[in-house]
Amino acid sequence: MLNSSVAPGTFRTLHWSPGQYISSLDTPVPILVAHGREEGPSLCLTAAIHGDEINGIEIVRRVLHQIEPDSLKGTVIGVPIVNLDGFRRATRYLSDRRDLNRFFPGSPIGSYASRMAHSLFQQIILKCDYTVDIHTASFYRTNLPQLRGDLKNKAVLEFSRHFGGMSVLHNAGATGTLRRAANDAGIPSLTMEAGGPHALEQEAIAFGVKGLKNLMHNLNMYQTVRLWRMPQPVFYQSIWVRAKLGGIMLSKVDLDENVRQGQLLGRVIDPITNTSSDIVSPINGTILGKALDQVVSPGFATFHIGVVATEEQLETPLPATAPDLAPPTPAGAPTASPPIDPDAVEAFPDTES
Ligand SMILES: [Zn+2]
Repeated sequence: MLNSSVAPGTFRTLHWSPGQYISSLDTPVPILVAHGREEGPSLCLTAAIHGDEINGIEIVRRVLHQIEPDSLKGTVIGVPIVNLDGFRRATRYLSDRRDLNRFFPGSPIGSYASRMAHSLFQQIILKCDYTVDIHTASFYRTNLPQLRGDLKNKAVLEFSRHFGGMSVLHNAGATGTLRRAANDAGIPSLTMEAGGPHALEQEAIAFGVKGLKNLMHNLNMYQTVRLWRMPQPVFYQSIWVRAKLGGIMLSKVDLDENVRQGQLLGRVIDPITNTSSDIVSPINGTILGKALDQVVSPGFATFHIGVVATEEQLETPLPATAPDLAPPTPAGAPTASPPIDPDAVEAFPDTES
């Protein structure tokens, strides 16, 4: 890989050059490789494809540096900071303002983002048998640690069972995402979500590391003594609920909280008129992701609600509609917004990381 070889039973840092800047000033991206003494699969862990999503950097560090290559079967390849360009500026995007995770598998004659995606895909991703691409929520939101993947793909469904108790959301991913391109190339791939951007969240990091240790154990790559004692993962389908009006959003529920249809999730208050608009759950489910309290615009995706589904139910998408469930406004209370309508929820909004 990358014109280098890593001897069996050793750990080595290689360098990948996306070849994009002035070549004489190019800064190579470090690639951590643990190469086992015995044969086994190769597993690729990528993080910070979005430069502001730093929990994954720490997850990759902990996993790679805890491996004893002598006891490893196969190879673990960790790319802690794919988007060094964005990481240095603490932003999600590349310096050409493109989102790298919309350009896979990329093209050698395309844009800056497309060439970079192509280089990573050809030189690293295609050398792997499995990939896990680690992200966080975006834009002042946070996610419960979870996996996302196309569970209608049998290889991906099987792969997703190896992470212990980590929940799995059925979502094939937007066109151009690494997981989608890798799956199209026949490499089972999942996205791992853990927490929010611009932060190091110890709980989410520990959860992610634990999931990956379970994965390596279950793939018979690396034995872990303290395995997750939880049963099979829970599969979810999901919808986002959007703000109807703009204003100050104050949340009423937490991540992982079970909510029921009609429950108040949050309130958006107009700071000038003091009128408010309730955000109400259109379904029974679990809060998988949420916006942090902030100023929101109409249409802002606020709460991501998962609904437990069996493998068979994954074939049928959740209806992107919601009944009129807004509770009546008590006398004297600020005027409520119109009830949630179908436009306020959707299955695949622009919040995919
Ligand atoms: Zn991301």
